[in-house]
Amino acid sequence: MNIQKNLQSLKSQLPEGIDLVAVSKTKPIEDLHKAYEVGHRIFGENKIQEMSQKQEQLPKDIQWHMIGHVQRNKVKYMASYVSLIHGIDSLKLLKEINKQALKNERVIDCLLQVHIAQESSKFGFDENEIATVFAELDLHPLPNIRVVGLMGMASFTENIEQVKEEFLSLKKIYDTYQSSQKLSVLSMGMSGDYELAIECGSNMIRVGSRIFGERNTPPQ
Ligand SMILES: *Cc1c(COP(=O)(O)O)cnc(C)c1O
Repeated sequence: MNIQKNLQSLKSQLPEGIDLVAVSKTKPIEDLHKAYEVGHRIFGENKIQEMSQKQEQLPKDIQWHMIGHVQRNKVKYMASYVSLIHGIDSLKLLKEINKQALKNERVIDCLLQVHIAQESSKFGFDENEIATVFAELDLHPLPNIRVVGLMGMASFTENIEQVKEEFLSLKKIYDTYQSSQKLSVLSMGMSGDYELAIECGSNMIRVGSRIFGERNTPPQ
């Protein structure tokens, strides 16, 4: 597995304006360092403890994205440094992030996770709940967080039409709020489906195994 080559060839194929989150969960520091050496600065992790350990050991100009499910009681461990939290699935969680961001005198960027897959195992809001969250934030703003976009995961299936439908449903919700909520990030697409996601309007992809090789543990 040549991480640097994988990364460079992936980047050379990406259209302009697409941000790449290199998903380094379960991978050792040396692997992240290889990506860093060829200029990569955005890394995604799905466990706060693992991300914090890596953050301590690696250069401070890395932007750390939390892409996993976030437990409220662990927000404090990443509040001082996290650059973008993708998986917001409750207003309570947003309030906790707001509180911890305030303690750190920061404003933390967040994405609302939308449940677009048919699998019930995946987290996220449905379309109506998204409307409720934005309405609530309009009424009672949380000054230390900024909702900058939406994130979603398609079903784990070979059925490309279904995946496409799911991505397009997320893009539609994004378009609904893009201008009124000043959204700029649509995070969708992983190793297996990022090309389709970009076709459907994604501007941020989260790619792990395509860069770092297969993981021993399944994606969560
Ligand atoms: C693991 C993970 C990814 C990356 O998965 P790959 O298939 O290895 O690219 C992307 N997004 C989320 C939320 C993940 O948990």
